[in-house]
Parts: sequence; C-alpha cells; structure tokens
Amino acid sequence: MSETDRPSPPVVRLARCPICAKAASEAFRPFCSKRCADVDLNRWLGGGYAIPAAEEPDPESEEIPDLRDDP
Ligand SMILES: [Zn+2]
Repeated sequence: MSETDRPSPPVVRLARCPICAKAASEAFRPFCSKRCADVDLNRWLGGGYAIPAAEEPDPESEEIPDLRDDP
C-alpha cells in the first residue's frame, strides 16, 4: 500500500488585494472591497498608475484618499 498518490486537499487560494494588501474578497476579487476596486479603476481612468505620495499602502490602514474627480 502506497500513500504517495493520495489526493491533495482542496486549497482555497484568495489573492491579496493589490490596493491595500488585505485578503481579497470573493465578491470583489482580486480586491478586498468595492472601494479598492474603485480605487484601482480610478487609477486606470485617471491615465496614470502612479501613486503620488505613498508607495506602499499600510496594510493596517484602510484610509483611501478620495480619488474621485467629479466634473
Ligand atoms: Zn483592498
């Protein structure tokens, strides 16, 4: 009897939110929330993917600057 070919356990892999590095949510992946999804979208719509001030968002901080640009 060999146990070398036993099936691997199911692995639930959730990516991390690229915005705040929290665990991504199933509903908003790869982001953790709609807000982070919006932030990412606004970056693209803004034409630049550069972050002016903070290079690495603090994982503990959920403070997202208001990037909305209402006409
Ligand atoms: Zn996030």
